[in-house]
Amino acid sequence: MHRETGKPEVEALLGEVLASADVVEHWARELPYELESTEVELDPMSYPKKSGAIHRAPRGVIASIMPWNFPFALPLRSMIPALMAGNAVVFKPSEVTPRTGALIAELFDGLVPKGLVGLVQGGRDAGAALTEQDVDVVLFTGSPAAGRKVAHACAERLVPCALELGGKDAAIVLGDADLERAANGIVWAAMMNAGQNCGAVERVYAVSSVAKDLRERVTAAAKALRKDVDVGPLTTKAQRDTVGKHVAAAKEAGAEILCGGEADDDALFYPPTVLSIDDDEAAVIKDETFGPVVPITEVKDAAEAIRRANASRYGLTASIWTRDVREAQRLATRLRAGVVTINNHSFTGAVAGAPWGGVGESGWGVTGSAFMLEHLTRPSFILVDKNRGAKEMWWYPYTDTLRAIALAFAAARGGADSLFGRIGALLRAITMVPKRMGELKAKPKA
Ligand code: NAD
Repeated sequence: MHRETGKPEVEALLGEVLASADVVEHWARELPYELESTEVELDPMSYPKKSGAIHRAPRGVIASIMPWNFPFALPLRSMIPALMAGNAVVFKPSEVTPRTGALIAELFDGLVPKGLVGLVQGGRDAGAALTEQDVDVVLFTGSPAAGRKVAHACAERLVPCALELGGKDAAIVLGDADLERAANGIVWAAMMNAGQNCGAVERVYAVSSVAKDLRERVTAAAKALRKDVDVGPLTTKAQRDTVGKHVAAAKEAGAEILCGGEADDDALFYPPTVLSIDDDEAAVIKDETFGPVVPITEVKDAAEAIRRANASRYGLTASIWTRDVREAQRLATRLRAGVVTINNHSFTGAVAGAPWGGVGESGWGVTGSAFMLEHLTRPSFILVDKNRGAKEMWWYPYTDTLRAIALAFAAARGGADSLFGRIGALLRAITMVPKRMGELKAKPKA
């Protein structure tokens, strides 16, 4: 992973290997309970001698199309519960990380019956071809542009898909925040994996009273990062070009570069960059940068911060930094994001028991928690009837007695205006039931 993506080994170990071990442990522990069938209560008067239960059936063949930024952890966080829930998986890693993809497929050799895990190597054409095969669900993680195409293909075949797409996370720093922690946390969450993280801090909104102090601390923390130890190179040339373009355009439009902002050479490394900016139309504020860049915008108060944080096509995660946890919890409910962290940022993607997913162009998939099982299983309701009668009361023939019973039951449900009226209607319905049963037993007239 380190060789294929450039990420520091520490990050590969913490964010990919250990996170995946947690995923295995979580589902080994939780899945048997989550898959247990649940009884549905049936009113014995309306449904005599019947019992029903909801079972969770596997979807079948799951296509898993994955990106390169966490090439080990992301595929495994859905493949593990998918296989354990009884599905087969056809996995297409990113064309940027084929060796990690091959390693994942190898891991399942001998662990699951042969053929249950398939591997498809290739780029977007291979991904597009996979969505057109006879698969039952597509789990897609990647860019909104490709996600849209996957959604189209799945709509054509009328199969469900789960989309985990991009992000433009905001971090909101309030006047009473612990600024040292906020600065360190923001720099980590923005620069980790060289910023190539869907849940990276890509916008900071700091209230005026602390904005200057925060800018200084974030800049100092970013300057202290060591090349190739703390922050590796970007993974692709295309990514480096996007980052360079976003920063250059912001600079051109008047943003102040507080550190970084210029790559030394043509290599893939881009220096950790901090900007001071007040321009909601800048690409570095509107579009996903996916690089080691922190744009800081000063705002009047929390209300303005929330408004500007929400004014994004994306809505993956967001954070609020303050000592007033109650106020932060209140503000969190007003943020348009799938995950909100208070005094931390986005690490919960590695917590298998917590739902991870977004709104808007961040997609509609959920990974982690029991919510994920909606993509991997479907409810199957199985009803057992031990009634040995020749007919149910509501079967043919439709007679005047059946009509009268139905009317009396409808009145008993609330149509009759008083409690006594409802009880009366119910009694009328019940007294007519034997007559109906007699009708059902009587031979039809010749
Ligand atoms: P990408 O969309 O270019 O590619 C993702 C995968 O889709 C690759 O395997 C690719 O080959 C395949 N693909 C591309 N076009 C396709 C098509 N038309 N049909 C089917 N498959 C197709 O994304 P990327 O550059 O690999 O990854 C970066 C993106 O992923 C960023 O936007 C990032 O935010 C997002 N991401 C989201 C999450 C999340 O959990 N929400 C996690 C990681 C990455």
